[in-house]
Amino acid sequence: MAAGCRALSRCVVCDAGLGVKAAFFGAQQSGLYCENCKRAGMKPMHVGARNLAERFTGERLDRIVDGEAMKASAKELREAALAGLRCTSKGS
Ligand SMILES: [Zn+2]
Repeated sequence: MAAGCRALSRCVVCDAGLGVKAAFFGAQQSGLYCENCKRAGMKPMHVGARNLAERFTGERLDRIVDGEAMKASAKELREAALAGLRCTSKGS
């Protein structure tokens, strides 16, 4: 199976695949939540941001971001990283 980052592709509550739908994260919770499980106050992280996270983990986002769509994704990703959400190769 392809490596992919499980933390970025599944809901931590119900384990539903997030697919291309928006996922949600919060400063007090770790992991991504699906639309059904999201809590009040969580912020959305769209699939573009999750793709960026998978492709550019460890890279400086500011260097690789180019275009408005990617800027929006990078902003979501940066906020998610500040909330402690990271895709790393280490197991949990
Ligand atoms: Zn869920």
